[in-house]
Amino acid sequence: MRRHPPSLVLIWLDALPGDLLREMYWRGELPNLAEYFEDGVFIEHAISCLPTVSESNEGGIATGLFAGETNMLGERYFSRRRATMMHYKYNARPDDDFGGRLRARSIDAVVGDAVGMGRLLREGFTTIVDLVASHYERSGSLRIVERRLETASRVARSRKPRLLFFTVSADYIAHVSGSRGAELRAFLREFDKCFPMLAEALREAYGEEGYAVFVFSDHGVSDVSRHLNLPSLLEGYGFRPLDTGLISEQECDVAALSNGRRSGLVYVAHPSEGWRKRPSYKLLRNYPLRGSALDLPGLLAREEGVDLVLLRRGKSVVIVSRDGEAVIEHDSSSGKYRYRVLKGDDPLAYGAEGVWMSEEEWLRASYRTEHPDLIVQAYNLFKSPNCGDLVLTAAEGWDFWEEWDVPYPRLRASHGGFSRAEMDSFVLGRGPCLREGVVPVARLLDLYATIVTYYRAGHLAYDSHAVERLVTPEPS
Ligand SMILES: [Zn+2]
Repeated sequence: MRRHPPSLVLIWLDALPGDLLREMYWRGELPNLAEYFEDGVFIEHAISCLPTVSESNEGGIATGLFAGETNMLGERYFSRRRATMMHYKYNARPDDDFGGRLRARSIDAVVGDAVGMGRLLREGFTTIVDLVASHYERSGSLRIVERRLETASRVARSRKPRLLFFTVSADYIAHVSGSRGAELRAFLREFDKCFPMLAEALREAYGEEGYAVFVFSDHGVSDVSRHLNLPSLLEGYGFRPLDTGLISEQECDVAALSNGRRSGLVYVAHPSEGWRKRPSYKLLRNYPLRGSALDLPGLLAREEGVDLVLLRRGKSVVIVSRDGEAVIEHDSSSGKYRYRVLKGDDPLAYGAEGVWMSEEEWLRASYRTEHPDLIVQAYNLFKSPNCGDLVLTAAEGWDFWEEWDVPYPRLRASHGGFSRAEMDSFVLGRGPCLREGVVPVARLLDLYATIVTYYRAGHLAYDSHAVERLVTPEPS
């Protein structure tokens, strides 16, 4: 590695589907990006963190850890201690849940002198809040692209931070226009058009060999036309669900919160101990309610709008689908995972059943399936104290949107789920000592390993899931 690590520019295109980028990039519809990254690297399939929301992926890039380990499951969760919904826009802060131990090993701490814009985490670096950009984002205006790149160019020139990490959000546009909508294509074309302005500013600020740039999306979206209201559904089962429109302590025996609208966290009170105690696997499959015993995961998995139900069973994680059940096991001495069908049809249809495999082997075996990387990531999801007792993913074409939530004029796509459309992102990179050409597959959080390797702290990645795939050893 060179004497001075390069400055780093991370450009995070929120909710931009990997499929769309690949299509437009290879068809020559993004000429400026193609020219700039010709000498760079293109990770064609960068698998996002579960659930496919911004929180989990920012946490993953910042630390190399999965959402269950960073505690970043989405903008809402339920606090059993307070019997209250916690929401990052109102009564909770992601930085509080993320925790100081992770902060010390985050890219912001390792690189130092970081400036962030549009990030959800806000501590440990300088934050720039751009109210005009927020307005453009909320109204779905393409002017957000030029505004963000202009501001970033100005910051690079005037302040020259070592780490400049900012979003250009397509989230609103993706929600209202759908995963293949003309507006999303226009967003990418606009980004391509404005990119040379930023590239010029970076060259001026840092010198030709003084910086590396990464452009990526955190997750994609999945088109939806039908909505399953989880609190109403659970009320129909006989529960008293949390009113998700009210942030206050409530008397309830179940709480169902969706994040990104296609993943659901369901928290269930213990039948005799209330919120003090988590119900066991046995109880969740035999839950006493109004004189009957409900198999909650089984019932939910048979609902039309639900794809999978996941829950913990001891140290394993069980996956329940409409037609079958399977278990994910982990062997801590070898670090390998095994997936076995317990009954009925294989919920994931991976064809790798019964074999102990490493995280890398699971990534390669699953990234082209409909549920990329689900074995490794679903297992780790339940490590978070904020996780629900049941984790739900929506079926194709469905989400868990509640009509009062977010005033979109229409909702054509959602995210948060574990489908390929949501999980299959990309990374474009160029910088000193960075390899050239196509890397077929990686995890998005592998960026962590690349960044800490640049900054001579590659050992930090050994305690994470991130694998360094991009930096080439310097010829001596
Ligand atoms: Zn996002």
